[in-house]
Amino acid sequence: MTEYSIIENGFVIDPEKNGIEKKSIGIIAGRLVNVEEVLEKDGHIPRIDAEGCYVAPGFIDLHVHVFKDVTSLGIEADRVGVEQGVTTIVDAGSSGWENYSIFKETVVNCCKTEVLSFLNISRKGLAAGLNELAVPADLMTVEEAADIAAREPNIIGLKARMSGSVVKQQGIAPLKHARRIADAINVPLMIHIGNPPPYLKEIFPLLRRGDIVTHAFHGKKHGILQEDHSLIPEAEAALARGVLFDVGHGTSSFSYETISQFKEKYATPFTISTDIYLHNYQSPVGSLMFTMSKLLEIGYSLEDIVKSVTMKAAEAIGNKEIGTLKHGTRADLTIFTISGEPVDLIDSEGMVITGKSILQPRMTIKDGKVVSGK
Ligand SMILES: [Zn+2]
Repeated sequence: MTEYSIIENGFVIDPEKNGIEKKSIGIIAGRLVNVEEVLEKDGHIPRIDAEGCYVAPGFIDLHVHVFKDVTSLGIEADRVGVEQGVTTIVDAGSSGWENYSIFKETVVNCCKTEVLSFLNISRKGLAAGLNELAVPADLMTVEEAADIAAREPNIIGLKARMSGSVVKQQGIAPLKHARRIADAINVPLMIHIGNPPPYLKEIFPLLRRGDIVTHAFHGKKHGILQEDHSLIPEAEAALARGVLFDVGHGTSSFSYETISQFKEKYATPFTISTDIYLHNYQSPVGSLMFTMSKLLEIGYSLEDIVKSVTMKAAEAIGNKEIGTLKHGTRADLTIFTISGEPVDLIDSEGMVITGKSILQPRMTIKDGKVVSGK
């Protein structure tokens, strides 16, 4: 593609507007513009025909693991990124202070997908096993965090995995440490929740506005919901002060039962992410679009699920350049179709529902250029 182009005939989903509108989108020099501005250009104007497709801002997946080779679970970034219609991915804690430079060199700088990071508060990230918060001496200091965050713009937050198997005897202490670091360098925390201890009633009070709780809708015991399907008071209070819930599907962290019960009582928006890695990309996770298809089947609207992986996800990481169709912002776009072929959709608890509308990537545009599909 040349400097400018027009994407025409698509059904455009603008997360800042209501409804879906058939219209054209203009691109000049990697930026979104009005179509009229492109039409003023001389000569041949390249056009992409999106007839029968949906066009949305590039999708953002807030929770992936793409530290290939160095961590045993890392999957190739573009395979879960632009090849699946996802223009920005956030690696959630695969790397830490000690190995981020390797991550940057071998992943961030070597793929078409934009790769951001929630840096693990443990110095080795997930490179030395999956109980990275069990030894206090392994945690990075406030000074180390401040230094690396100042040097590395792609580090946009911190990750702390707060479940029993990760923290071992440390309980809530690693989260208190994470809180101190996050406050000192002013970035959001992404907290993984799973099997206690620590319990959510200890975790939630430590979270502030803008922090993200991933695996929010898992089906394990001691989750966000009580017997009567209402939120535990600590979760309700956290949502009220602006803590964000995130899906983080993963191998064992997304339950149709939990999300359905939440949906019955609460309209609070949340973000949809995959927690995709080498061992779950075939099943049960699939891809971001596959995960979105599950939420669609549960009864969320197409506009809401697109909003959650664009505008909402961009807000969560404080990025005004992406997740939007505003004039002058970066031309990252996801073009997709919805197939009516029935497909079995499995959650992390082994429950299967039949999906009747499956999102499928058609074309991915990054900085105004086609990087996947045709
Ligand atoms: Zn994860």
